[in-house]
Amino acid sequence: MNDFDLSASSVSRVEVDEEPPDRRSQSSTCHKSPPNQQRLWPLALPESVARSTTAVQEIALPAVIARVSRGSARTKAFRRAFYRDITDKQWNDWRWHARTRIRTREQIEKMLVLSDDEKEGLDRAGEILPVATTPYYMSLISREDANQPLRRTIIPTASEFTQTRGESADPLGEDHDSATPGMVHRYPDRVLLLALDFCSSYCRYCTRSRVVGQGDIVPNEARLKLAFEYLRNHTEVRDVLISGGDPLFMSDDKLDWILTNLRAIPHIEFVRIGTKMPAVMPQRITRDLCKMLRKHHPLWMSVHYAHPDECTPESYQACARLADAGIPLGSQTVLLKGINDNLETIKTLMHKLLTMRVRPYYLYQCDPITGSSHFRTPVSTGLKILEGLRGHTTGYAVPTFVIDAPGGGGKIPLLPNYVVGRDGEDLMLRNFEGGTYRYPDPAGSLP
Ligand code: SF4
Repeated sequence: MNDFDLSASSVSRVEVDEEPPDRRSQSSTCHKSPPNQQRLWPLALPESVARSTTAVQEIALPAVIARVSRGSARTKAFRRAFYRDITDKQWNDWRWHARTRIRTREQIEKMLVLSDDEKEGLDRAGEILPVATTPYYMSLISREDANQPLRRTIIPTASEFTQTRGESADPLGEDHDSATPGMVHRYPDRVLLLALDFCSSYCRYCTRSRVVGQGDIVPNEARLKLAFEYLRNHTEVRDVLISGGDPLFMSDDKLDWILTNLRAIPHIEFVRIGTKMPAVMPQRITRDLCKMLRKHHPLWMSVHYAHPDECTPESYQACARLADAGIPLGSQTVLLKGINDNLETIKTLMHKLLTMRVRPYYLYQCDPITGSSHFRTPVSTGLKILEGLRGHTTGYAVPTFVIDAPGGGGKIPLLPNYVVGRDGEDLMLRNFEGGTYRYPDPAGSLP
């Protein structure tokens, strides 16, 4: 069962990392705040308050995380096996993880016993989507078991290169709705701003596998200034989702500059960041990052989790820091065959996310990107999972199950059918236990 020497006793408290990253070593680009920022955002907390609420010290883990998470013991064993000389300071520094990403078959082969399917996938990887992951995330991967859920999300297999009916490189038609380079304007009041196309770890089922890791979308000022100019001229846009790639792969300064420029546009009320960093490189969620982010409220974050094994103490601490910085966290999970496509796994994940102060938001039917048939489940699987959650557990633990309609139709929510018919002026409803109930609905037109 254990892949490495897991003799180290389980950790029940989060280790305090830290040595915050040296800001001077980040991107040297220095940007002035737009002149009207103060006028628009006068509600920043006094520094003394900000200090007291961003300084997250050692955190006691909820019992559910401490009890079920083997993350820390596994991670320690992995470090002993492959990074024995790396200090705690290096291990807890996100830049070390970014620099030390594992990207080649040769590196992976030293850490994992590869199946023939994986060897073929790795030999061809890069034709569509590069391979990379952080040492931290690799520490959660099984050395022996090619079917371990997390392993399947990051190690390519030959199936990735089989195209089946209905698949395409851009199933959501994002390229068609491009407003400026790297910005998608599909819905009237909101835009998707792709800040960069790099991620610390590449998910094999990524909807944007056609663009991520290619180096074509970079956070350069000329491109982003074009996007800001577009947004200034489109007063109907009130909501900007910054995604990528992973926006938190940028330096604090660069992200601060982007957020400052967006905040200076009076009609933009709301900014969201989409990221997988708390799951794949939780070291990125530093106190300095949180201190910077909280200047830009209201700021929300969509965090991407695929499996309960990602809910480690390290990840818990990352989410705690973001939540303590006042950032509402919502989760996005893609339903994946053989990875999380059963009620028990999804329910466990949703429960863990709630303890991490993350509200389950979307459960996605996997998009039909090229080479995704080995990840896609029948739609009925998602509906059955929803049926097993609704009424059987906390309402907050029930995400919205959606299909992002191919061709640019947007997100379409799907629900099990709880309306069973009509009897005269009564609507007949089915509850979560299968019982039938009447609701007086004389003027109704359902079903
Ligand atoms: S982190 Fe997000 S953008 Fe990056 S590869 Fe994974 S799903 Fe795609």
